Amino acid sequence: MAARLIDGNALAQQIRSEVAARVSALRARGVHPALAVLLVGENPASQVYVRHKVADCEGVGMRSILDRLPETLDEAALLARIAELNADPLVHGILVQLPLPAHIDTDKVIAALSPAKDVDGFHVQNAGALMVGQRGFRPCTPYGCMRMLQSAGIDPRGRHAVVVGRSNIVGKPMAMMLLQAHATVTICHSATPDLAAFTRQADILVAAVGRRNTITAEMVKPGAAVIDVGMNRNEAGKLCGDVDFERVRDVAGWITPVPGGVGPMTRAMLLVNTLEAAESGLAKAEATPG
Ligand code: NAP
Repeated sequence: MAARLIDGNALAQQIRSEVAARVSALRARGVHPALAVLLVGENPASQVYVRHKVADCEGVGMRSILDRLPETLDEAALLARIAELNADPLVHGILVQLPLPAHIDTDKVIAALSPAKDVDGFHVQNAGALMVGQRGFRPCTPYGCMRMLQSAGIDPRGRHAVVVGRSNIVGKPMAMMLLQAHATVTICHSATPDLAAFTRQADILVAAVGRRNTITAEMVKPGAAVIDVGMNRNEAGKLCGDVDFERVRDVAGWITPVPGGVGPMTRAMLLVNTLEAAESGLAKAEATPG
């Protein structure tokens, strides 16, 4: 029997509707949630992502501020702009579109973001909060994957979750979130010998590698939930994931498609984080006397 599909488009639409309702409640109380997006240079993929983020904000009634900055912008100027946005009470979330040009130190830029506005969840304070189980912004992609599992009624507790990939934006936070949800977690990477020996044990398998057909049907345990984070192009230029979808769907119990899986959920979770930044700003303002 073919795996059940976890439909990222449908779930993202549902999340956007919920966010839109909460945005209008905030606006009624005088707070207009706003996301600032900083794009440095002309990277074509980044331009598409940024356009989507701005459109997504508009779709739920949020304000977006798009700064298109020249490729030649120096690091100090970018840090100065971030300081300005950090201090602006009308801006709730700040996102710096990555990758940055090579002459700019990405770690330094992320460190300059106010953790309270770091809606991508990349600042070490937010990464640390995830590590120790405290409140903080969760990176949107793994956060979206967790929501997809939840929507399918898959509770990670007691399951063996295998995450392939250990990047700071996907693999590592994904593993932490699964651990926090009481899964037993294995993290695989490029130096893992015999990847299949690990993936075959997975009740929940997350592929975040960036190479197509990394996960084939023989590597999947029958009935497993397979979450495909990868975004690659096949020979025809068509978007595809890391998982051999057509074959793996005959083995897995649940599977996310590409496109229409993790991608739209990542975008939806950015809206959730921005909304929560605005809501917690209001809560703090209300808790401050005078
Ligand atoms: P990344 O920083 O390049 O990390 C890739 C990870 O895969 C690394 O940890 C690497 O191991 C590991 N890896 C590479 N080859 C491997 C192999 N043969 N076997 C096992 N592990 C291997 O990429 P990323 O930013 O995490 O993104 C991963 C993929 O997800 C990309 O396709 C990206 O486009 C996509 N993505 C999608 C979304 C979305 O919204 N759908 C969001 C973010 C990323 P080492 O650490 O040892 O090098």
